[in-house]
Amino acid sequence: MFNEEFQLDAPIRWGMVGGGRGSEIGYSHRAAAQRDRLFTFVAAALDLDAERGRDFGTKLGLVPERCYPDYKTLFAEEAKREDGIQAVSIATPNSTHYEIAKAALEAGLHVICEKPATIHVEDALELKALAEKQNKMLAVMYGYTGFQMVHQAREMVRRGDIGAVRVIQMSFAHGFHNTEIEKNSPGAKWRMNPEVSGPSFIIGDCGTHPFYMAGMITGLKVKSLMCSRQSFIESRAPLEDNAHVVFQFEGGAVGTLWASAINSGSMHQQKVRIVGEKASLEWWDEYPNQLRYEVQGEPVRILERGMGYLHNDDPGVSANRQGGGHAEGFFESWANLYHRYALAIDAYNRDDKAFLESHWYPDIDGGIDGVKMVNACVKSADNGAVWVDYD
Ligand code: NAD
Repeated sequence: MFNEEFQLDAPIRWGMVGGGRGSEIGYSHRAAAQRDRLFTFVAAALDLDAERGRDFGTKLGLVPERCYPDYKTLFAEEAKREDGIQAVSIATPNSTHYEIAKAALEAGLHVICEKPATIHVEDALELKALAEKQNKMLAVMYGYTGFQMVHQAREMVRRGDIGAVRVIQMSFAHGFHNTEIEKNSPGAKWRMNPEVSGPSFIIGDCGTHPFYMAGMITGLKVKSLMCSRQSFIESRAPLEDNAHVVFQFEGGAVGTLWASAINSGSMHQQKVRIVGEKASLEWWDEYPNQLRYEVQGEPVRILERGMGYLHNDDPGVSANRQGGGHAEGFFESWANLYHRYALAIDAYNRDDKAFLESHWYPDIDGGIDGVKMVNACVKSADNGAVWVDYD
């Protein structure tokens, strides 16, 4: 069961850039970071509109003088305080991640950055080098990887329960943008603008999630890929609202990814199916407490979170906040990750390299991989759906 006893000497003083009033993902960060009292929310630049950001911040409990008009002022002013922030989460549109994360690391902060980490691969690599130089944590918010049954899948693959991996099927194909909703939704509008979203819409916005998860579960690296992308709402071109990707992995496994925003009627369809030589595993984010385990020639088994037959010696599998049978969900997954970020930050502060080597969390390597995948897909698709080398 989850250990809610306090595990740090003091909570980490934490701030946010972005995630202002009405944003899609701001609340999720605040709810997850504060869940286990490991982070205290003390300062922010929440909104592009400084006044709205200040008003919102004070209503979230911040003191007015620590609601800053922009991220540069936030980092500069907080650095002058003895009780200034030690870590920051960045929940702004994609094109701003690089400059904000760079400034945060330069200001000596630990960083939790939204995905896709950056637009350009070189920028993500530069951030990684900067985080190493500053000896700071640089995490990427792949929020679905805090689910216990995803960790169970990883453990089962590691322990050989399904045999060598042959096929990986990934999808994140929802129907929420099957009409031109960006006409009335600011959050959808920037996603269709290449200047802000980057060279891709739905591969970067959603495809990066199951792609990261599949890599986390299997440990397999992509060798080459081929992508076809299109925009069923024509005004979205050159960005795609639907894409199919075919992968070749090092070692011989193959895979596919369907990323879509026009899968009418679908809520999410975020699934990762791992086919091994003996058995297959399938996880679906709409039923996150279950994992399908299909052994060839035997009845299908549905493994349930919180049960004794799981690989509970893995802390990701046993990170239960409630016994099996009760539904844990999205916020628990995020809180599990923020818990891991807190322990990582503490280890960075103590320079505990041994702990960091054995402590998993979604880090910048996964962020770099996502940006690489997006850019390789665009290159492939825009050259006629040709095979392209991944590295
Ligand atoms: P949004 O448009 O709903 O909200 C963005 C917020 O950031 C707004 O409050 C806006 O005022 C603020 N903002 C923009 N630029 C800013 C700046 N320079 N300084 C301070 N504040 C600024 O966007 P969203 O849907 O919340 O997405 C934000 C990021 O989170 C994107 O990168 C997106 O890909 C990512 N995201 C991740 C997940 C996930 O599951 N991990 C889910 C949704 C969104």
